[in-house]
Amino acid sequence: MTRGRRTVRQVSAVQRAAAPREPAGGAEVAALLPTVQRVVGARVADRAAAEDLVQETLVRVLAAVGRVEPGMLEPYAIVTARNVVASRWKEQDRHRRNQHRVVDLRPVEAPDEGLVAREEGSALATALARLSERERQLLLAHEVSGQDTRSLAQEVGSTAGAVAAQLNRARARLRVEYLLVLERAEPPTNQCRPVLLALSSGDRRRQREVDADRHLLECDLCAGLSPPLLERGQQRDDQVRIPVRTDADIVAARQAAREMAGRLGFSRTDLTVIATAVSEVARNIVRFAGSGEIVVELVLRPRRGVSVVARDTGPGIVDVERALTDGFSTYHGLGLGLPGARRLMDDFAVVSEPGRGTTVTMTKWQQEG
Ligand SMILES: [Zn+2]
Repeated sequence: MTRGRRTVRQVSAVQRAAAPREPAGGAEVAALLPTVQRVVGARVADRAAAEDLVQETLVRVLAAVGRVEPGMLEPYAIVTARNVVASRWKEQDRHRRNQHRVVDLRPVEAPDEGLVAREEGSALATALARLSERERQLLLAHEVSGQDTRSLAQEVGSTAGAVAAQLNRARARLRVEYLLVLERAEPPTNQCRPVLLALSSGDRRRQREVDADRHLLECDLCAGLSPPLLERGQQRDDQVRIPVRTDADIVAARQAAREMAGRLGFSRTDLTVIATAVSEVARNIVRFAGSGEIVVELVLRPRRGVSVVARDTGPGIVDVERALTDGFSTYHGLGLGLPGARRLMDDFAVVSEPGRGTTVTMTKWQQEG
């Protein structure tokens, strides 16, 4: 369509790579938001879809700020919004044609609560039977008989702290076995139980040792079992992890990022900017890797900010520097992919290993004062 322009942008992006600076034009583009929202809202009824398209438009307008005549930014934004809406229709059409290829692995809600309760009871008994005798006795004495850790420690000549740690490990193991029984699943690899146990106990050092993050990307069973384990382990409310496989997950990732950043009091514009950048990296995962995850984390030092890690085990990027230039795109879809996300965030880094996958780490810092 506009090859000439793309070449110009590519040059400016390469310079930016050498000397990173704050993304320009944020305030100007923010002023256009109501107009863009009106244009998109008039054409798209679904609110989530409309928000997505507003963000698409924002990315494109931000990218164009430097080459649009002053005073022409609003008409440019209106035209861009219309184009973005129009291409989305084509996109959806293609998506519908490909939908039969998508396998939904999410569990189906069981309708019969009585049946569920009975199943859970027997699953718990089965899980308990899989623990060691010592673990079982410890759990039963503490949880069922209400014996405290100090008297348990006296019985075995140990300390209360050591008993508490044993109790935690036993609980973590019970949660893992319980979920495996409920799922009627035998772990497909030797790595599964150590990974699940590390997640269940909330032991981050152990999670690194067993390379839990990578395993969750590669193992469907563990990926499916991990959410309840992460919730029950040492719950962290400053971090959220979203598995990314489908377009719906892109929306979930975007919303999670927006919600997290909102807690730090980012401006409405910044919230949209952050959500847009997350959309871009999530879309990249769906398009190029098929599956991956996004972790959004609140950062307090050296300043307050939101850090986003997007990880996949896809084919990887052979030439990262080239993939970060605006003109480079292996698909003709919406969005600006990695260059767009990079422009929107303050810190941005890509590590990619062909055949192993790609990790994008990006941070938006809160403005001082
Ligand atoms: Zn596994």
